[in-house]
This record gives sequence, C-alpha cells and structure tokens, in this order.
Amino acid sequence: MQISDRLNRMEESATIKMAQMARDLAGKGHNVISLSLGEPDFDTPQHIKDAAKKALDDGYTKYTPVSGLIELREAICKKLKRDNNLDYKTNQIVVSNGAKQSLANLSLSLLNEGDEVIIFAPYWVSYKEIIKLSGAKPVFVHGGIEDDFKVNAAKLEAAITSKTRMVLFSSPCNPTGSVYTKDDLAAIVKVMEKYPEVLIISDEIYEYINFLEGGHVSIASFESVQDRCIVVNGFSKGFSMTGWRLGYMAAPQWVAAACSKMQGQFTSGANAFGQKAAAYALEADMGETYKMATAFEERRDLVISLLKEIEGMKVNHPEGAFYLFPDVSYFLGKSVDGKTINNSVELCEYILETAHVAIVAGSAFGVDSCVRIAYSNSTENLKEAVRRIRAALEKLK
Ligand code: PMP
Ligand code: GLU
Repeated sequence: MQISDRLNRMEESATIKMAQMARDLAGKGHNVISLSLGEPDFDTPQHIKDAAKKALDDGYTKYTPVSGLIELREAICKKLKRDNNLDYKTNQIVVSNGAKQSLANLSLSLLNEGDEVIIFAPYWVSYKEIIKLSGAKPVFVHGGIEDDFKVNAAKLEAAITSKTRMVLFSSPCNPTGSVYTKDDLAAIVKVMEKYPEVLIISDEIYEYINFLEGGHVSIASFESVQDRCIVVNGFSKGFSMTGWRLGYMAAPQWVAAACSKMQGQFTSGANAFGQKAAAYALEADMGETYKMATAFEERRDLVISLLKEIEGMKVNHPEGAFYLFPDVSYFLGKSVDGKTINNSVELCEYILETAHVAIVAGSAFGVDSCVRIAYSNSTENLKEAVRRIRAALEKLK
C-alpha cells in the first residue's frame, strides 16, 4: 500500500484546508466568519440558472466535444473581442472544469522535467503545486507591498534563464487584489520581447472585479507577444458560478490542441447544460456582474478603513478581486498566554481559535509576513470579523 511520490511532494491547498477548518468549527456550534475561501457570496444570477434549467429540458445532457460546445466557444470568442479586443477562433478555445483545470492542462501538456516556470509572487496557492506536478520547477519573482505587490520588469528579467518556459501571473491578482495597469504590462512585455521562446500565461479570472477607471487590460492585447500568450479565464468569479466548474483558455492553436488531447484522457468536455448556460451568460446583460463588482469595491473600502485602525497592521489599497493581503509582521514573535506566534500559519490558527474568523496564512501564497482576507462577505460579517480580529491581535504582547 503506498501513496505516490508525486502526491507526497504535493502540499494540500491552504485555502481549501482553512475553509474546511472553518466549516468544522461552525459544525461544533461556533459562530465562525469565514473570510478564507475566495468565492463570491452572491448567488448565480437567476437568468443564468434559468438558462441551465432550459438547457436540461432541451436535452443538453450528453457528452460534449472535449474542447467545449461550439456555441460556448463562439460566445467566448465574441467576448474576447468585445471586452479585450482579442481575435481568437473557436479552435483556439478549450473549455474546462474550472480555470484550475485549464492551468493543469497547460502544465501537464507543455512542461518537462527540469523546465522552469516564473511565477509572480505573492501567487495563488495552486500555481506552485500545479507546476510541480509536471516535474517543472517554479521560480518565484516577488513584488513587495511598497509596489502594491506587483513585480517589476528588472526583477522579472533577472529570473529568466535558458530553462524558462513560461511566465505565470494573475491580474487582478489572487491573493493581493493588485491590478497590472497597461503601463505595468507594457514594461513586462518589453522584457518578454527579448525572450520569444517563453510563453505567457495570463490568469484573468478576476477580470470583471476591477475597480480601476478603464478596467481590465489583457497582456495578450500587446501585439508583440500575442502569439505566445495564453489567456485563462472562467465563470467562477465574475458570474458567481464557482460550483458550476467552468473555465477556459484562449491559446495558440497548437497549445489548444495539446490541452484538448490531455483533457480528452482526463475528464472530457465540461458539463453540457452548464456550458449552454455559460454561453448565455456571456451574451446576456452583464448588469448583475457589475453590481457585484460595485459591492466588492464598497467592501474593500470598508475593510481597509477598519484594518487601518488596528495598530501594527499594514495594508495597501488594491484595485481588484476581493482580497486584501495585509502585512502582519508586527504581530509575529508576540505572545499570548505563554504561547508565541511565530509565523502566519500560527497567527491564522490563533485568530480562528480565539476570534472564530478564518483567514489564510500568507505563507501559502509565498509571503509569510502577510495574511489573506477574502472580503467576499456581507458588510455586517466583515465589520464583526475585523472587530474580532482586532480584539485577538490586541491581546498579543
Ligand atoms: N486562478 C485564480 C487566480 C483563482 O483565484 C482561482 C480560484 N479558484 C482559479 C484560478 C480557479 O478558478 P476555477 O477553477 O473556479 O475556475
Ligand atoms: N481561488 C479560491 C481561493 O483562492 C478558491 C479556492 C481554491 O480553489 O483554492 O480561495
């Protein structure tokens, strides 16, 4: 009886683990506020649910083409043109069971043992493990809180070697909420122009949760690197469809074909009636999406102002997603009841146990001096959660 070396090398997802710890504690009767899992608290808009029900009744209950229903791939191409001014054909789109699977497809289809993948840090938890699964080596390039956690061009260039195959980042970013502006991206593109053999994986799943004037810019819209950009996106965040498990990539045709072959052996096409509803979602009125984004922006402002009142808490002002990534180094090394809090994991455990608020340790995202707060929760819960966090932190001496 054995567990594979591959699995033994893999870390458990810290976001999912923390969310489960919060559920377990709530199951014991405690009033737990979970700001751990990155998931909109809103329900899927009714018109999208209705489209799925209709699709079921219309017989969308069978296998679909591995890369996705043609009507969904057409809707994605239209969306990419409408929102991002990108030209893709349907044979360049692969629909998957969530953007997570799109990333896994890319890693397993394109990387070999010993290849290097540059990941912008702080990074989303799963990037590191998904890349390691292919045998490739994740190489981290850090952006600090003083730069809004964004990676600058010089640091990126310094990390590129002859083994670099990909650069991977998210904007808006999980876990920091940072948004790469057109100028930020232009600087990165300038570096990438010098390395034409390196692919760029742009995770744009928080595209619609962007509070910047002018909105989202995709790195794939820069002509000089367009032919080696892979845009990863999905329905989980912008349409509040996390449980539907629908994501996609838009890629050079050879990449799409490779990923479709991989997916054909793993899971086949994503669920049929969900795809039909997703196609509808892209073409229908986006009012609900924008309403959710406005609500997130208001909550961001609320949580930032409350966190700033806590002595020692250092917080920046990110422009997207629904995360804050405050620096909590002031509290590390402090003690309570004879117990010292040594790192971000211990701090989050302490906050969960004493304040019954679940947040995620920054170490899971590559930065131990921070914690991630997902503010995708009601204003009432957010106020109460920060009040409790503050009370817990003020006990640390
Ligand atoms: N990328 C980022 C940056 C994310 O935060 C998430 C959230 N789960 C995903 C990809 C995966 O999204 P999903 O699989 O739900 O489409
Ligand atoms: N992306 C979300 C998060 O970071 C969902 C959980 C997950 O898929 O890891 O919390």
